[in-house]
Amino acid sequence: MMDIGEKIYNLCVELFPINRSLMGSGVEKTLNILKRENPRIEIKRIPTGTKCLDWEVPGEWIINDGFLKDPDGIKIVDYKKNNLQVITYSSPIDKKISLADLKKNLFTLPNFPEAIPYITSYYNENWGFCLSENQKLKLRDGIYHAFIDSEIKPGNLSYGELFIPGSTKKEVFFSTYVCHPSLANDNISGASLATFLAKFVQNISNRKYSYRFIFIPETIGSIAYVSKNFKSMKKNIIAGFNLTCVGDDDKYSFLPSRNGNSLADKVALHVLKNNNLPFSYHSFLERGSDERQYCSPGLDLPFCSVMRSKYGEFKEYHTSFDNLDYVSKEGFEGSYRVHLKIIDILENNSRYKVNVLCEPQLGKRNLYPPISTHDSFALVKDIKNVIAYSDGKLDLIDLSEKINLPAWKVIPILKKLIHAKLIKY
Ligand code: ZN
Repeated sequence: MMDIGEKIYNLCVELFPINRSLMGSGVEKTLNILKRENPRIEIKRIPTGTKCLDWEVPGEWIINDGFLKDPDGIKIVDYKKNNLQVITYSSPIDKKISLADLKKNLFTLPNFPEAIPYITSYYNENWGFCLSENQKLKLRDGIYHAFIDSEIKPGNLSYGELFIPGSTKKEVFFSTYVCHPSLANDNISGASLATFLAKFVQNISNRKYSYRFIFIPETIGSIAYVSKNFKSMKKNIIAGFNLTCVGDDDKYSFLPSRNGNSLADKVALHVLKNNNLPFSYHSFLERGSDERQYCSPGLDLPFCSVMRSKYGEFKEYHTSFDNLDYVSKEGFEGSYRVHLKIIDILENNSRYKVNVLCEPQLGKRNLYPPISTHDSFALVKDIKNVIAYSDGKLDLIDLSEKINLPAWKVIPILKKLIHAKLIKY
């Protein structure tokens, strides 16, 4: 049987090659694949020109072809072979041009000479090609043919929304974006992980919280979503997570909410601190994704991000090297397990209270192991510590931190004690 890391990776492989930009057929194609996996995803559309807070939904960028031919007429850059090679939202061009003039419209990374950069020009009119610095250095003088067949037309900002109801209207919210072309860790890793987290959530029996997953274009998508939903978001979201850069196998990274003290921050940090794996703690000043909108003053939603290598921090970020070799089954598996722990803790995050005064007698309730070993001694100590701090004041996370035990080890103890009618919540 395929393990979960492999399943998530395989979905990432399927989504990777699609020609995505903010809007249009690439996003629609992506959303349709996600809907095949989770049929209850609703695809929603907001037309070009719609006012969204301080912004407006832009036109849709359509590109049919894009290439650069050298003085011998040989295609040396071809959008159809690599969708990073035309800048996203490039204007059309069909021009014979000298190398000296062409160079103004060539984008490379001199410090990472093998890599092709990913460049966008959403809101300024521009055209251009992206290539490796090594390739650019080899170009010889002469007349080149620059050709980009593209247009910007009125269209729709499409996004996917999956709502999974629980026993309360209070929501755990996952947001991820689907607007980058063939880039793996940033970006399509988020949608791949979200798909399998959503499948997991749908199978939780007696779900306490409702869950919402949205698949949007970054920035304009979250602004548009907030502009339509801010009242219900403000009222219902108890914890939110922006899923991005979750596919590589390097250390974890944490980006807090603006104030850093929400339930989302608390649960994510508890998991990362007790995961026995290294992680880097970033400041909100290092933000760069949709938490910029969700945490903005006035909205102040409890959103944080648990990533592997953080966007902007790894060398391959926004280059052709952020590809399917950069992400891995192991990387996805780790991110999946971390987010499952977060969900499990949130589902069980009540305040627990012991029913009896003084220490209850564990033996008569079959909670005391009949044979005393090193392990059973440790377990009894943990049970007694859980009881000692089940005072009705501490929530699960605070209780776990008080007794230096990960919440996922406290939960089974609490379940036993609830079953023995020693503890209520
Ligand atoms: Zn990006």
